[in-house]
Amino acid sequence: MKVRVDPDLCVGHGRCYVLAPDVFAPDDFGHCEIMTPDVDGALADQARIGAENCPERAISLED
Ligand code: SF4
Repeated sequence: MKVRVDPDLCVGHGRCYVLAPDVFAPDDFGHCEIMTPDVDGALADQARIGAENCPERAISLED
């Protein structure tokens, strides 16, 4: 599964990288960076949790 973040939507709440630290990380401004753009198994579960908890719907997942 591919993970993407839309930088125009991300405002840096940080929920994604707090809940899914193996997939997402903060950049210098607290915005989301994808650490692992291709995920499966436990990392895919983390990516889903991050996406579901992003208030801005900035994270998209694609099979
Ligand atoms: S939860 Fe959403 S808005 Fe917040 S840092 Fe992550 S991608 Fe950006």
